[in-house]
Order: sequence, then structure tokens, then C-alpha cells
Amino acid sequence: MRPFTYARPESAAAAVRAFMAAGAGAHYIAGGTSLYDLMKLDIEKPQHLIDVTTIRGLDAIETNGERLRFEALAPMSAVATDKVVLRDYPILAEALWKAASQQLRNMATVGGNLLQRTRCLYFRNGAGGTSVGNTYPCNKREPGSGCAAIGGLDRGQAVLGQSSSCTAVSPGDWPVALVALDAYVEVLGAGGSRAIPIAELYRLPGSTPNLEFTLQPGEMITAIVVPKTKAGRHSTYHKIRDRESYAFALASAAVALDMDGDTVTRARIGLGGVATKPWRATAAEALLAGKPLTPATALAAGHAAFADAKAGQHNGFKIELGARTVADALTIAAARNRS
Ligand SMILES: Cc1cc2nc3c(=O)[nH]c(=O)nc-3n(C[C@H](O)[C@H](O)[C@H](O)COP(=O)(O)OP(=O)(O)OC[C@H]3O[C@@H](n4cnc5c(N)ncnc54)[C@H](O)[C@@H]3O)c2cc1C
Repeated sequence: MRPFTYARPESAAAAVRAFMAAGAGAHYIAGGTSLYDLMKLDIEKPQHLIDVTTIRGLDAIETNGERLRFEALAPMSAVATDKVVLRDYPILAEALWKAASQQLRNMATVGGNLLQRTRCLYFRNGAGGTSVGNTYPCNKREPGSGCAAIGGLDRGQAVLGQSSSCTAVSPGDWPVALVALDAYVEVLGAGGSRAIPIAELYRLPGSTPNLEFTLQPGEMITAIVVPKTKAGRHSTYHKIRDRESYAFALASAAVALDMDGDTVTRARIGLGGVATKPWRATAAEALLAGKPLTPATALAAGHAAFADAKAGQHNGFKIELGARTVADALTIAAARNRS
């Protein structure tokens, strides 16, 4: 165990001050289900932990206003079972309850979920003697060391958004649903507060896959805000995984539809399990606008979503699987539209 200091500030402003005072090596900690895990693997090595879980009011869920507002420390399980979310936004409820296990969802927060790190096995099994006992190069963990996944065991790797430095999949389900609904996060930092669209919270790996988020040092997510939309009622989060009880996505699609009869007037589609960041399938959305939702148009949209996909050695199946996941999700959401 590496030594670290531990602080429990009483407000978000005090947390930011504590983070800035601690300097390099500071980390916020919320549910701890991701960060403690990575500390045990010796991948994250924080010198200062700023525990934000006791900040009052930062776990509130507000669904009656003009927007849905989830404070960052709301447990995933609480948001997944909120009555308004369940009734009007199945895309959100399903993205949460199909993630992890009930015990984890009780501990994990909706803010922490957005910032979990990749499950790429070379990222996780490389930090000097883990279960595999080898040290694999990983540009995300150790910039400049190389990427063992490229040309390696790449079944789980991304087919969209990858670079010659990194093919690691963005792991979260919740951000995929949020990106489809044009949600944003509110953050507080040393320079004050600002809003960041979910789509802009994540970076493509490019040549610096170690830089995953656009947060500035010390910026803390305080809330997640989702614009209300009637399309929420006609939505789903469809997740395909190796093990149905709980597992990360091999492919997932978050879909919300505006429809006029059987015709799609507007589709919102997010992709998970297949890309290096929560992915918006804009080509598929454009293909569907003004068209009737039939099995043929749904599958055409699925294929459009993966038109730019590139496979490695073992993950080519994700392209057809992903296309069919999108098509299935569209069919499920459209059926809800009629009910
Ligand atoms: C066995 C297992 C299976 C899982 N399966 C899934 C799955 O299928 N789908 C899925 O989506 N997830 C899955 N997860 C991941 C799980 O959902 C995340 O671990 C969890 O959501 C992280 O939330 P947390 O509050 O525990 O974050 P923490 O572990 O406390 O923090 C995670 C990161 O976010 C930072 N952070 C936390 N809160 C804030 C904040 N408010 N502002 C700024 N930074 C912050 C921390 O510094 C840390 O870097 C799984 C996890 C496990 C262990």
C-alpha cells in the first residue's frame, strides 16, 4: 500500500480548495468502486484523496423542473429507480441498471461513473506484477511505452475512434445514454463553475491517450443536467455483453426517437462498447430522419453507424454486432413510441 493523505471537506468549494492546495497527485474519491480498484492494481497512485461523499446536498435528484438534474454524488441505484426517470426516460434507467451489480450501483455515483477508466486488459494487467505477472506496454498508463493491444488480444477493443497509440474502449454505459440526450455536466474548479457537454468531456486518444477527459486539474463534477425531451418516453438502452448478469458492453446502443406515426422525425443514437469515447452515431441519425422505421431502415441505420469502423485481428465481429444492436434498439424504442 502506498501512503496517501485523506481529507473530507464539507462543501464543493472546500473540496476544490483542498485539491488545489494538495497539488499534483490529488484525486477526488466518491463511491471508490473504480479508484480503489485501480489503487490496488497499482495503476492509480494518488498521494492525496479528497473524499467528497459527505458534502451535503450533492446527492440530490431533481426531476420536476425544466431539466433533469442529478447531483454528482447521487448513487447510480437511486437515479435508476427514480419514478420519473423510470417512466419518462427508460434510456437512462436502463443504462444505469444494466451497469455493474446492485451492490456496486448502491456505492457508485453518477459523477464517478463518467470518469471511470478503461477496462482494456493491457491497461489493467500491466502495472508491475498483477494477476498476469507481466508488464505490458500501455500508452494510456505509461505514455510513450507503446500499445500491447494493437496486434495483441484485441477482442474487446474499439472499432471506432482508435488511433495508432490506443484502441481502448470507453467503458461506461451511463455516458452513452447521456451523450444521446445532449446532456451536460456542471463542474466547479479554481476558476469558478462552467458547463461541459458530455460529448466534449471525453477526448479521442490520438497520440496522448493518457489524457482522457477535458477537465482542468481540480475541477470537480457537481451535477449532470439532461434537457427534457418527449423522445425520452420512446427510448431504450440496449446492451449486448458476454454475461447477462453483469459485464461491460461488447456493443450497446442508446436510442431516443421522435416519431410521427411510423416515421422518424428525429433520432438520437449513442454507441457504447465499440468506441474510444461515448460515441454519437450522427450518420445513422441523419439516415433515419423522415423515414419510416422498418426492419430494413433500422438495419441500414445500424450499418451507417459503423461505416467508418476499423477492426483489428479479433474484434471484427463488433462491427456487425454493433449494427444489429442499433437496429434492435431502434425497433424497441419505436415499439415504445406506439404504446
Ligand atoms: C466488477 C465491476 C463491474 C462493473 N461493470 C460496469 C458496467 O457494466 N458498466 C459501467 O458503466 N460501469 C461498470 N463498472 C464501473 C462502475 O460503474 C464504476 O466503478 C463507478 O460508476 C464509479 O463511480 P464511483 O462513484 O465509485 O467513482 P470513484 O471510484 O470514486 O471515482 C472514479 C473516478 O472519478 C473521479 N471522481 C469521482 N467523482 C468525481 C467528481 N464528482 N468530480 C470529479 N472527479 C470525480 C475519481 O477521482 C476517480 O478518478 C463496474 C465496476 C466493477 C468493479
